[in-house]
Amino acid sequence: MTSAQADLTRNQSLVLRVLNEAGTPMSAYDILDRLRESGMRAPLQVYRALEKLIEHGNVHRLESLNAFVACSHAKCHDSGFIAFAICESCGNVSEFSDPEVTSRLAAWTQRNSFRAAKTTIEIRGECSACAGA
Ligand SMILES: [Zn+2]
Ligand SMILES: [Zn+2]
Repeated sequence: MTSAQADLTRNQSLVLRVLNEAGTPMSAYDILDRLRESGMRAPLQVYRALEKLIEHGNVHRLESLNAFVACSHAKCHDSGFIAFAICESCGNVSEFSDPEVTSRLAAWTQRNSFRAAKTTIEIRGECSACAGA
């Protein structure tokens, strides 16, 4: 357990646990459904917890799915660039980063004087397991 995780509130820990157990992206409402028995009632509670977890780097938001997924790389935020390969058949998500892509993107933003705050790449398609079936 890192110190960042120790600082989590009860709601944040609950939300993170659900996402870790799922291992696949979930909408805020899916998360809420799993936490009703733990006393969570309002979507706003889930959204607040997610907001903090994203800030801490425990969770990522997948824009194209409007869903949330637990971070699978403790150090992914150091690279400033995260890529997700999303399988449209089974919903599996692989998170990765690549130093070559990172430096290409950095070169472009420097050339164009663009101040990048965040870079997320989402690849949609079929994972190897689904493509091979
Ligand atoms: Zn991550
Ligand atoms: Zn798949």
